Amino acid sequence: MTISPAKSVLVVEDNELNMRLFCDLLDSFGYKTFQCRDGARAVEIARKEMPDLIIMDIQLPEVSGLDITRWIKDDESLRHIPVLAVTAFAMRDDEQRVRKAGCEGYLSKPIQIVSFMRAVEDLMPQGQAA
Ligand code: MN
Repeated sequence: MTISPAKSVLVVEDNELNMRLFCDLLDSFGYKTFQCRDGARAVEIARKEMPDLIIMDIQLPEVSGLDITRWIKDDESLRHIPVLAVTAFAMRDDEQRVRKAGCEGYLSKPIQIVSFMRAVEDLMPQGQAA
């Protein structure tokens, strides 16, 4: 019998409370988490850790989460990783912008625990973790 390693999630988020909330939730559901507070380092951390899923805050101080998602989707080694966008401002064209940037999922803040975990589990690739 093999025990498959925990699936992992990279959380890109500059707000400490949201980072805590997302990571505590993911931990309690058995996911391994990697934290990135500086959007400029997100691609580098993704290359190093190869997470199964990325949670992407869109409003970051230095660089937009939409740009980071475009870099990820332009990178052959990373583009298969699903990106779940979380955005504070639910503007009318938000979802369209987020999808166009390449995000596979979208949630607006404040997040609801049930819909957050459902979105994570829906996007999480099935089968063995890499
Ligand atoms: Mn933010």
